[in-house]
Amino acid sequence: MKNYKEALDHKIFNVISLAAEELDVDSYVIGGFVRDHLLQRGDPKDIDVVAVGSGIELAKKVSEILPHKPIVQVFKNYGTAMLRAFDMEIEFVGARKESYREDSRNPIVENGTLEDDQNRRDFTINALALSLNKNNFGELLDPFNGLEDLKSQIIRTPLDPDVTYSDDPLRMLRAIRFAAQLGFRIEKESLKAIRENKDRIKIISRERIVDELNKILLSEKPSVGFALLHKTKLLKLILPELTALEGIDEIEGQRHKDNFWHTLEVVDNISENTDDLWLRWAALLHDIGKAPTKKFHKKIGWTFHGHEFVGAKMVFKLFKRLRMPLNEKMKFVQKMVLMSSRPIAIVDDNTTDSAVRRLVFDAGDNIEDLMTLCEADITTKNPKRYNQYHNNFKIVRQKIKEVEERDHVRNFQPPVSGEEIMETFDLKPCREVGIIKDAIKEAILEGEIPNEYDAAHDYMLKRGKKLGLQPVKQ
Ligand code: ATP
Ligand code: MG
Repeated sequence: MKNYKEALDHKIFNVISLAAEELDVDSYVIGGFVRDHLLQRGDPKDIDVVAVGSGIELAKKVSEILPHKPIVQVFKNYGTAMLRAFDMEIEFVGARKESYREDSRNPIVENGTLEDDQNRRDFTINALALSLNKNNFGELLDPFNGLEDLKSQIIRTPLDPDVTYSDDPLRMLRAIRFAAQLGFRIEKESLKAIRENKDRIKIISRERIVDELNKILLSEKPSVGFALLHKTKLLKLILPELTALEGIDEIEGQRHKDNFWHTLEVVDNISENTDDLWLRWAALLHDIGKAPTKKFHKKIGWTFHGHEFVGAKMVFKLFKRLRMPLNEKMKFVQKMVLMSSRPIAIVDDNTTDSAVRRLVFDAGDNIEDLMTLCEADITTKNPKRYNQYHNNFKIVRQKIKEVEERDHVRNFQPPVSGEEIMETFDLKPCREVGIIKDAIKEAILEGEIPNEYDAAHDYMLKRGKKLGLQPVKQ
């Protein structure tokens, strides 16, 4: 039997081992920690421990031994307990045997052996356990050849995949998520079983689904996960707005691009430049308005008029349906979708300063993110065009910088306030105040006057005069 003592050289493992010995139970580290150690994948954030006995008692004993006596959080319903030590979350569970019902992913649970517990794990690579017992400390317990699967980079279920996925359909998303995160392949029978059980996804809470989607989106190359979701037909059940983008229509010899596969490319592109989950969501959703707005016109071919506006509205509905946050994150995604065509629209031979100023004014602090999205949106396979588009955006970025340094229009508040307009002309709040205020803003954005107090004040007086107003104060 292989020994992996070196995986357990952190003192927490000695403490757990000692605590288990005092309680006279066997204990093992299992799951993600073992897998990630063998894959040499970064620092572990959480450790899962199985006790052949009570996990809760073991957690309490471990806390007693640790000098800082961490709080033990007990989840009685699940028979698990968690404590924090050395910047890690350590989760304890009693070894168990599970059986499932049709309508719930929560099993009926009985006490069991280590093998029973390994049987209930989702994948062979997640069923690997290292002994914390004195007599075989560090020994790998691997009843399903998980080590082999790790080496050949395969996601496989320990038991019949059809049963495994049907019992707990969340595992379908986990399989795809691990394939995306680790760059592994899902074994054939598993893939088939996922496809066959796809409709079972309806018993999974939307929050759990979104958790997995977020992890897929945060992986290095998210298209891997989304292509699998698509292949297994899960995507249509989870994000039908995306699958609606698939396909190429042809009328009178005119074709449009396949906006589904294009979108996946955009997400991969943006992921090379940002780890921001919400900007990645924006890339995923930036074209969803194209399905409902698609039209063919005899003269101009395919159009998607107003797809940005429609798309932004769809973002709200989609977030709501999936119980995602309806806060400033959602607003950010909406704004990115709404503005996604703006930078391209101002690109031409002589991109004017006023167009750039308006763009910066409307995008505010999100201007960088918007440019990153637009650059990721370039998926043409024609190298000449590819370079030309990137170059255009480089010019826009340069112009943004210049305009910013000179005019400070990002988050700009007009230098003359509504109150000042009212005082100057002795007005109560009324239409004229709004007209003058807007005129000042427009004049600044158009570059007619600089973004400065004196110029704005003069402009206010001029504009007031036009409206027949007399200043009572200069
Ligand atoms: P990560 O923490 O990187 O997402 P992980 O494998 O540690 O990966 P967790 O969700 O922390 O995943 O779960 C810990 C372990 O619990 C897994 O390794 C697996 O053995 C088991 N597990 C988790 N969820 C399931 C499930 N739905 N079905 C069966 N076993 C599961
Ligand atoms: Mg984990």
